[in-house]
Amino acid sequence: MIDSYRHKGLRQQLVKELIGKGIKDPLVLGAIGRIPRHLFLDGAFAEWAYKDVAFPIGSDQTISQPYTVARQTELLELEPGQKILEIGTGSGYQACVLVEMGVKVYSIERQESLFKKTQKFVHDLGYKQIRTLYGDGYLGSERFAPFDRIIVTAGAPMIPEALKQQLKVGGHLVIPVGAGESQRMLRLTRTGDQSFKEEDFGLFSFVPFLKGTARI
Ligand code: SAH
Repeated sequence: MIDSYRHKGLRQQLVKELIGKGIKDPLVLGAIGRIPRHLFLDGAFAEWAYKDVAFPIGSDQTISQPYTVARQTELLELEPGQKILEIGTGSGYQACVLVEMGVKVYSIERQESLFKKTQKFVHDLGYKQIRTLYGDGYLGSERFAPFDRIIVTAGAPMIPEALKQQLKVGGHLVIPVGAGESQRMLRLTRTGDQSFKEEDFGLFSFVPFLKGTARI
């Protein structure tokens, strides 16, 4: 797995582009500047890794556009040492961004083959702080709850109750909500035992958040 000077240069260009698009959090920009995103795409498509676009990763899934990853991560307002739940492991790129920011990540994927492939890949890459889980993200993870932050990286028709209940008081759940082509990026903050504040950060486009698991 090679990370050349050329890749590093392209990555710095991408970071500049993200700054131009309004990303400010230095921890987010630092993480994107360090992670070899080209290794998350199939070899033939490595050229595309540092363009600000989404890309197919096999199993009918995509690695999200860097801007979307950056913006959604920024909205989490992470603090080092926190415990994060990610729904939709996919390529593992978002989980690595979180780890680079100094948090512990639990990440759930519903597609078994993708789960296995990504579990091995992120560990081979050296990201041992990611605990990958195979399961239905609608249920979250009772076993490892509660979480300081929860990030959903698939477009949800509604906000799953289990995820709200697995959030610590004061914690954020960042989730794209909408059943069609595009979703509204919502941030829920748990303000009390059963009270939540909701903020809306505009339109984004994600692959669908599907119910249940798939042995494919
Ligand atoms: N975070 C990923 C983006 C992946 S795309 C990355 O950085 O590459 C969204 C992912 O969510 C897909 O892999 C899809 O299989 C997964 N997904 C969809 N519904 C799910 C569910 N109910 N539980 C867990 N994962 C789900």
